[in-house]
Amino acid sequence: MITRIARYAPKLLVRCRQQNLHHRGLYIQMAASKFQDMYVIDLRSDTLTVPTKAMREAMYNAEVGDDVYEEDPTVKALERRAAALFGKEAGLFVPSGTMANLLAIMVHCSRRGTELIAGDKSHIYKYEQGSAAHIAGVQVTTVKNKPDGTFDLDEMQMKIRNEDIHEPVTALICIENTHNLCGGKVLPMEWLDELWKQAALRDIPVHVDGARLLNAATKMRVHPAVLTSGCRSVSLCLSKGLGAPVGSLLLGDTTFVTRARYLRKALGGGMRQVGVLAAAGLVALDTASDRLTQDHANAALIANGVSEFGSKYIHIDPASVHTNIIMVNVERKIKAPELCSRLEQVTDEEAEYLGKEAVIVKALSLDTEHIRLVTYNSITDTDAKMVVKKLQFINQELQRS
Ligand SMILES: *Cc1c(COP(=O)(O)O)cnc(C)c1O
Repeated sequence: MITRIARYAPKLLVRCRQQNLHHRGLYIQMAASKFQDMYVIDLRSDTLTVPTKAMREAMYNAEVGDDVYEEDPTVKALERRAAALFGKEAGLFVPSGTMANLLAIMVHCSRRGTELIAGDKSHIYKYEQGSAAHIAGVQVTTVKNKPDGTFDLDEMQMKIRNEDIHEPVTALICIENTHNLCGGKVLPMEWLDELWKQAALRDIPVHVDGARLLNAATKMRVHPAVLTSGCRSVSLCLSKGLGAPVGSLLLGDTTFVTRARYLRKALGGGMRQVGVLAAAGLVALDTASDRLTQDHANAALIANGVSEFGSKYIHIDPASVHTNIIMVNVERKIKAPELCSRLEQVTDEEAEYLGKEAVIVKALSLDTEHIRLVTYNSITDTDAKMVVKKLQFINQELQRS
């Protein structure tokens, strides 16, 4: 992606001054003219995908109707198609993954005084404004997420409540596959099977936050329905690695989806001629497998490249990279937010040394020690190699300082 950097170079300059990036000999010279047409590799999120030409054509040609009256044929086709893909009876097209998860919570926990169990690193717990509480009126109890995205099932069992007059009633268990904050981890099949079994015995439904569930299916080379056999509902984001501009799906049995459709209207999610978006979603499902395979390969390329040059300061464990998300551990001489700022700069020395391969890289720091990098459809293998080179260059800089 070529970005006219001149526009925001002055902003960067200000930020450099504010953050005093002249430290440790990293003198950063920000002559605006030098950064004209600088190549930017933006690895902040797979939500940055823009619709492909095929999607735009499908959007242009989409047959539409009023979806609140359930008269949009393209939306219906997408809902049917996604339901079949995950082995569920019915589907509902919603504006976002956040709304899909909230609707699932509202339907499963419709009784007052209920709670749900979710991992302490789950998107539902951390990144949805606590909407389970402030909109659905449902308490969230957490279990500790393990690094592989699972949690301890004994701990979960201990937290299930249903009899005592003092306690809320556990009405839902939520899991996340792939697990975003655990670094795009694919949940192991044996763990899923054991969870389905235990939840069924306690008669508690399981909701899968499957924002990136097709990444998991692609990685495991299984039919997506294999990963959702024991859950009562599942959400899927079309607007992440799948590349559609907007939209998520919520899938489950007919009764569940009917109720979710009713509540979607209350949340303002009743959209009208939204077949224009569903059309892009259908293309996204058609092309998912090849697309995600490439994203995973590019993530592996970055992980392997960085681990090969072997840094004391910037670590990636290639075995921990299952899909399109890479967690970088940042240690000792530099903190994660500083490394992110450095990635957004190109020093004189770097420009000279790397020539045309001197690029700006954007990434997200999650805390002081971790940076998240995400690959998606506009990131090529050439980009991935340039990211490795840049990190290697910064590592050398850190060694010298
Ligand atoms: C992105 C994401 C969501 C929410 O999706 P939005 O469409 O951004 O609301 C939910 N769960 C996970 C794991 C996600 O990564």
